[in-house]
Amino acid sequence: MSLMVSLNEILGQQEAVSRLQQAMETQRQAHAYLFFGPDGVGKETTALAMAQLLFCRDPQEDGTRGRYGCGQCSACIKLEAQTHPDLARLGVEEGKTRIVVDQVRELTRFLALTPLESPLKVAIVSDAALMNQAAANALLKTLEEPPADTLLILVTAHPGMLLPTIRSRCQKLRFGLIAEPELKQLLMQQTELTEEMLTTALAVSRGSLSRGLEYADGKVAKLWETFQKQLGGLSLRRMGDLLDCAAFWANRERFPTALSFLKTWFNQRIRDNLSVTPGLSKQAQASWLELAWWMENLLHKSAEFNLNRTLVLEGIMIRIARLQDQTSREKAR
Ligand SMILES: [Zn+2]
Repeated sequence: MSLMVSLNEILGQQEAVSRLQQAMETQRQAHAYLFFGPDGVGKETTALAMAQLLFCRDPQEDGTRGRYGCGQCSACIKLEAQTHPDLARLGVEEGKTRIVVDQVRELTRFLALTPLESPLKVAIVSDAALMNQAAANALLKTLEEPPADTLLILVTAHPGMLLPTIRSRCQKLRFGLIAEPELKQLLMQQTELTEEMLTTALAVSRGSLSRGLEYADGKVAKLWETFQKQLGGLSLRRMGDLLDCAAFWANRERFPTALSFLKTWFNQRIRDNLSVTPGLSKQAQASWLELAWWMENLLHKSAEFNLNRTLVLEGIMIRIARLQDQTSREKAR
């Protein structure tokens, strides 16, 4: 997937994006912006897309989504390759915890130069609230006397931690949490999650794409592996394991995941038992279907009546264990 996202492709931040587009169209954009809002909702992406539109040699127009960079001209290509000479990006360097004054001084020198290829120079400061005192003071000087033809974009999830004098010299633009339909679309574009896992990822993301991606990346996959292993091993002969397993998944945070996993697991199970295991008796097949139906019902009720989570899971797992014991006896015959 391409790193660059054009302004017309940014999802869930329509208000911020159209305000920027309007400002650029009338060439009345501010010298300095402060993009603030929760992590992982598109602030940084929007800052880059804004630079793209400003640098682009062949800006495009989308009827409903406004103007955006073409993504194909030499300027857009350089931006994508991170070699555009009129863009500077600054953030906490690896191994450090703060943005230091030398970095800001370098930025000031960059902004003082005449743009090489574009009408203006753009600088993006990520995690701007992590500037140390000296760095913040140095940046304030630049904000007080902004060089001509420059655009400075500060990005932060913690605007309250910036010097008030810095805040007041920036045009502030709020980025909100991403609404569920847009977030779902983004997760579907960028992950391989199944429909059921997507539901969990959405719940965990709480409006932040980066949280959703993080979850999709490692946690879901790992938890799912654990879950499959545990459920596949359930047997009435190992009641201790079964009870441990139910208790583990009954945890308040894990429970919603457990429910969506259960649905996925049953779907696979039933598919496997009905098609992949042709030797299975009609009765065993019917029992699996019945159990799936029973579970669906129970989960419905547990959502409605707030049943005890541990008891719900124990009930389901005991039935699964019994059926698995039967199934393996049947297969052994
Ligand atoms: Zn272009």
